[in-house]
Amino acid sequence: MIRRKTRAVYVGDIKIGDDAPVVVQSMTDTKTHDIESTLEQINRLYQAGCEIVRVAAPTEKDALALSEIVKRSPMPVIADIHFSPRIAFTALESGIHGIRLNPGNINDKGKIREILQECKKRNIAVRLGVNSGSLEERLLEKYGYPTGEALAESALYWSEFFESVGFTNFKVSIKGSDVLQNIEANRIFASKTDIPLHIGITEAGPLGKGSVKSAVGLGILLYMGIGDTVRVSLTADPVEEVKVAYQILQSLGLRRKGIEIISCPTCGRIEVDLPKVVKDVEEKLEGEDLPIKVAIMGCVVNAIGEAREADIGLACGNKSAILFREGQPVKRVSEEEMVDQLVKEIRRMKEEKNGRA
Ligand code: SF4
Repeated sequence: MIRRKTRAVYVGDIKIGDDAPVVVQSMTDTKTHDIESTLEQINRLYQAGCEIVRVAAPTEKDALALSEIVKRSPMPVIADIHFSPRIAFTALESGIHGIRLNPGNINDKGKIREILQECKKRNIAVRLGVNSGSLEERLLEKYGYPTGEALAESALYWSEFFESVGFTNFKVSIKGSDVLQNIEANRIFASKTDIPLHIGITEAGPLGKGSVKSAVGLGILLYMGIGDTVRVSLTADPVEEVKVAYQILQSLGLRRKGIEIISCPTCGRIEVDLPKVVKDVEEKLEGEDLPIKVAIMGCVVNAIGEAREADIGLACGNKSAILFREGQPVKRVSEEEMVDQLVKEIRRMKEEKNGRA
């Protein structure tokens, strides 16, 4: 996998593009003017590994709340602005690290130029957004509907406009809810510029379906080397977006977060309640961050091979399991104690690694 060469853009102290790892973003779903609830969610997102957070600013009241949010946020904050240049200016005065603009729904080049000049003065990054739902009329007339080509043309048009007024501190997002349209749009845009890309499948859906759709769309783009920052858009707690984003990135070897768990799909050979064991282990290890592979296998058929590959794990059998570590059996444990014993061994491993570091 060769990542596309892009130029660097900074949102606060977070580097996007160039040689930076793919940055994980999410967006709050609280009312932004409810400062305490918004900060509570921002902190939960940060704990989950979110690196940049976006908050909606649909009203002046929300934009006015930004300065307090920015002051207390543990990570850079981007204000999401649509339609209103006036709200954009209020947001820019708040100390915000970045703003997201869809020029297509402001559609006033004079105002956009003024916003960009202000961003330049204050060293604020911009995410130039193009969405299938807010594509310019002229492109809808030209293409009939928001094709990938139409979306890429819009993004290239506005990128050239940004650069023509001397503004280069921006990244682009081209989003549609259709996976193929999204891939095509990003592929065309990526072949023509070195501007960093924020990728995501917008309005992907609820947790299960949305994760699959996002994994397919983002997975293909990332495998093509495209994508400097990601957001998984789900109709769910935004913390889930961060978890899914890391799972996608981890499965491609691009980022790592938490502990990697390998578990078998179970079959008629199973003699323990493996789904429960895996769920309990996941719950107990929530928030742990350790570069290890944990294998939890239902029987010895694949356990021997996985045990060799994994750092630690369980090979289950008749109401019991063999706990193994680095390919070697450690001890036999009963079904009742297997979760606790495995977690204990993982924590011991963590302490040993920390001691060595
Ligand atoms: S590891 Fe054993 S229990 Fe699990 S799916 Fe394979 S054969 Fe079935």
